[in-house]
Amino acid sequence: MRIQSILPQLHSNRNMQSNHNLTLQNYPTNFIPNSDKVSFSSKHRIIPIKTVKAFKERAIQRGGYHCMYCSVLMKYDEALFNTWKNDNLFSLPIGAFVKRFRKYKECLHTSEREIFEYVEYISRKNPQAKLDTVIKIMSTKANKELLKSQEPIFNKMAVLANKLPEENKTNVLNLIAKSRYRMLRIPHEEEFSGKEIRYKIENFTKAISDPKLAKRINSLTELLTIPAIYKQTEPITDKIVLRILKTISPNAKTNKINNIKINYPAKRLNTMIIQAIKTETKNHKKKDIYNLCLEAEKQLNGEPIMGKFSNRSFVYDLKEALLGLEDTNPLRAELFKQANSLPTSSDNVYAFITKHDQLSPEKIAYDLFTPSELTIEHQKPSFLGGIDSIINWAIACKRCNNTRQHSDMGEFYKMFKKCNAQKYWNEIIEDANKGYFDFEDVVNMLKIFKDESGIKIKSKHLKCRPSYSE
Ligand SMILES: [Zn+2]
Repeated sequence: MRIQSILPQLHSNRNMQSNHNLTLQNYPTNFIPNSDKVSFSSKHRIIPIKTVKAFKERAIQRGGYHCMYCSVLMKYDEALFNTWKNDNLFSLPIGAFVKRFRKYKECLHTSEREIFEYVEYISRKNPQAKLDTVIKIMSTKANKELLKSQEPIFNKMAVLANKLPEENKTNVLNLIAKSRYRMLRIPHEEEFSGKEIRYKIENFTKAISDPKLAKRINSLTELLTIPAIYKQTEPITDKIVLRILKTISPNAKTNKINNIKINYPAKRLNTMIIQAIKTETKNHKKKDIYNLCLEAEKQLNGEPIMGKFSNRSFVYDLKEALLGLEDTNPLRAELFKQANSLPTSSDNVYAFITKHDQLSPEKIAYDLFTPSELTIEHQKPSFLGGIDSIINWAIACKRCNNTRQHSDMGEFYKMFKKCNAQKYWNEIIEDANKGYFDFEDVVNMLKIFKDESGIKIKSKHLKCRPSYSE
């Protein structure tokens, strides 16, 4: 006999205690609590979810929820991922790593799953290989395939660029040339950009398991974007120089630093900051960031580098290259439309492999697996007055959560099938019927969802009195 048929009293008892808005009259009489008749130990009780922690725990306990947007199944959160990271799971030979991760394979987004399946396939023949080696093996072919889809887009952009006013035209054509060098891995000279290096390093520190080290590297990296250093539009004051010196050598005696009276130009400061990051990452064997520093040093010295094409920095540079061009100029929109149609590492296997072919197994695993982490989504964003409470929370994968940011939910849903929303809400309703959510909370959740997305959810199967099933 299933436990739910013998335990209705317990359930309504729980509900009465937790939801003061519901009155006894709302309940069918056979559900009126009768705690004298039955008493149970607390571990059998289902407490309606009211906290982020409880919501995430329930998600993992039930074997996942489907993302409300893209419908990927999420069975692990950041905490679980961090335990894998701390166990150095991803640096293990792929045989061991695949064995432990296999049960989460179904959680991966399409292109990440394709890559994992390839790693799985290789692990049967060569279980001792490492994740970064497998990616490297695939990279020659991937790079060729990726170029095939990038080239026509760049050709179209070059045609558009030729119609631009002279200054923008030169900027965009230079940018396209730089991008081609990067895509083809041809050494070329590039200007140093503190902002770009900072962006890249911060992406890498996310994969570092030691939070202290990550913090130390980020505090150094931040120095690269101090406006006086980065834009060089303001004078570099003594105060700025002191801040940099103190961050680089936190243990140096302050008076010793204070007594230094040397004129530090931006290039010298940049070199010192990069040098400090390099030393830190060399000592801790973080080759991804270390290699980035080597490249940054070459840029600072005017030596040629290989570089690596990145969609995100391309779009960023394109904005800069179009400065001064009216917002209404149709060429702007057309250029961005092309730029945004470039294959990305989240939707194209070849782009993922090409992006990661020289990176550490930790970083590869981070980018493969964290997009499927379960996160709490604020249906109505906080900055628009969305409250921080269960009725405004939903579960979405990290990729969707990060992609949506503060954008309008209805607008964001245009990228997905509407039935994905129904699938997610069916799971919430199913859990509500089991007592994991207060009935009223779910009604309010659905109300906010409808207001935000404009999508109506079928919720007739939501029972006003939950049944018990655990
Ligand atoms: Zn998603």
